[in-house]
Amino acid sequence: MTVQLTGIGVSRGIAIGKAHLLQRGELEVLEYVIPIHLLDDEVARFRRALEVARGQLNAIRGRIPPNTRADIVDFIDTHILMLEDSTLTVAPEHLIVSRQCNAEWALKLQRDALVQVFEAMDDAYLRMRKDDVDHVVTRILRILIHQHHEPDETGDAGDVRLTGSILLADDLTPADAVLMQHQGITAFVTEYGGPLSHTAIIARSLRLPAVVGVRNIRRFIRDDELIIVDGQRGVVIAGADARTLDYYRELQEDELRQQRALQKLRGAPAITRDGLHIDLQANIEMLDDVADVRAAGADGVGLYRTEFLYMNREDTPGEAEQLERYSEVIRALDGLPLTIRTLDLGADKQVDSGHTTRQCLNPALGLRAVRLCLRNLNLFRPQLRAILRASALGPTRLMVPMLSNSQELMQVLELIAETRRDLDREGLAYDPDMPIGGMIEVPAAALTADFFAARLDFLSIGTNDLIQYTLAIDRIDDEVNYLYDPLHPAVLALIHRVIEAGANAGIPVSMCGEMAGDPLYTRLLLGLGLRDFSMLPTTLLEVKSIITGSDTRQLRPLTEELLLEFEPGRIRALLAKIAEI
Ligand code: PEP
Ligand code: MG
Repeated sequence: MTVQLTGIGVSRGIAIGKAHLLQRGELEVLEYVIPIHLLDDEVARFRRALEVARGQLNAIRGRIPPNTRADIVDFIDTHILMLEDSTLTVAPEHLIVSRQCNAEWALKLQRDALVQVFEAMDDAYLRMRKDDVDHVVTRILRILIHQHHEPDETGDAGDVRLTGSILLADDLTPADAVLMQHQGITAFVTEYGGPLSHTAIIARSLRLPAVVGVRNIRRFIRDDELIIVDGQRGVVIAGADARTLDYYRELQEDELRQQRALQKLRGAPAITRDGLHIDLQANIEMLDDVADVRAAGADGVGLYRTEFLYMNREDTPGEAEQLERYSEVIRALDGLPLTIRTLDLGADKQVDSGHTTRQCLNPALGLRAVRLCLRNLNLFRPQLRAILRASALGPTRLMVPMLSNSQELMQVLELIAETRRDLDREGLAYDPDMPIGGMIEVPAAALTADFFAARLDFLSIGTNDLIQYTLAIDRIDDEVNYLYDPLHPAVLALIHRVIEAGANAGIPVSMCGEMAGDPLYTRLLLGLGLRDFSMLPTTLLEVKSIITGSDTRQLRPLTEELLLEFEPGRIRALLAKIAEI
């Protein structure tokens, strides 16, 4: 019998293979009383478990392949750091003594207390931190309860049992995901987790097809059963008949063929059938990403998210360190233009150095991005200096996130002018013509885009935030994910308005939110007049292939028709029509 289960597809791709069920079982934590004279032994047992957990995580870290992205390693480092945090180390010891209870129970009490605090705060970012606490606590509990069946302990890389199989688990830690891939897993399915969980992010980054949130999957599927995972549609199929299997094998083949064909486009320019040149740039977060930019044949970097330089550390990078980091990227790009975005800290991007605050009720509406920088000039000035100085080393553009009013823009422009004067006085080099641009990601800025377009050298539409703020949905809150809709008429109207403002002012308008890299919207965006795209390097060639097959003269009238629609069904039907012409 065929069983089809659905969840949330978080990393696209088709995998067909044998299921490998990770049955770690529910951890049953019991409470028992420890006689007073044995309390010291119980504390020592707890400390030993922490030691073993540290050893396990350090071993995992040591086995991560050297080319693994730095942010993946950071997830594991976060767990290692949590094992040093007194809330997980000292507090349970106090509980053992004060309640005269066993270490497992003390740790469980502490976890419950922490989780309650996180949940009361009702902050999506902290919910992700809650997952981290859970992962670390479970690791220690397993050691205490002697259940050493962690996936990281199952054999070495290339384990025969895992090669080619698809992992089914309740949940996976980022460490699990990395190691499992190392051991030959071709996809994974979890019962819990959302599209923005760390594990989902890692799956995309490792290009492993993945579906999360398939409740009770391990009850329906047996170990070694042949299953199909469709990471795009979020579907898992077991007991497929020959026809279904053939269909998915063909899809898989198609994907491979497509990937190979796309590689041929690498060196070709992105020119539409009616002869328009489209600029395809890439989004990066760190130096390591430049290799992907080059592999995709991008025209440059349209968004360098500098906040990652500030994350996972206790101090703030100064001017010299930033200049060094930007110079490395400029050198690696070897003549391709680099758009450096000034700090976008706050909301879901918090740092440890005290510049952001987690206390406010609506962090996405709070002191974030340019607002935070204008409030903390000690933070902003060194970055402006570093970016200006980096501009002397290669083609560089400066881009300011989350502008919402004229005062912010005028303040930023004045600060840049001041910085230039300072550098002149100090005899330090910079490019006097470095373009200054702004991100349009707040509806207020989109509606007044003419004002920004008249004073800036370029605009870039940040749809991730523009959609969040237009539709009033927290972009990292699982509960309202279903409302996140790039095709909402209000979103499309704002995008159209910004593109027109740029055209009227004669400046380029780019888009660097996720929407720019989704092939589903490429033709619509071309029809709306977008000529500059910036996206994850992994999606660039697919978008290029759509561009080279499109004629903007045919797209325009259909796009105009679509802009007049309000009903989602009609909008999608028109989108399908646009895809077909
Ligand atoms: C955006 O908001 O679309 C964007 C590109 O910026 P970020 O995702 O970094 O907020
Ligand atoms: Mg943004």
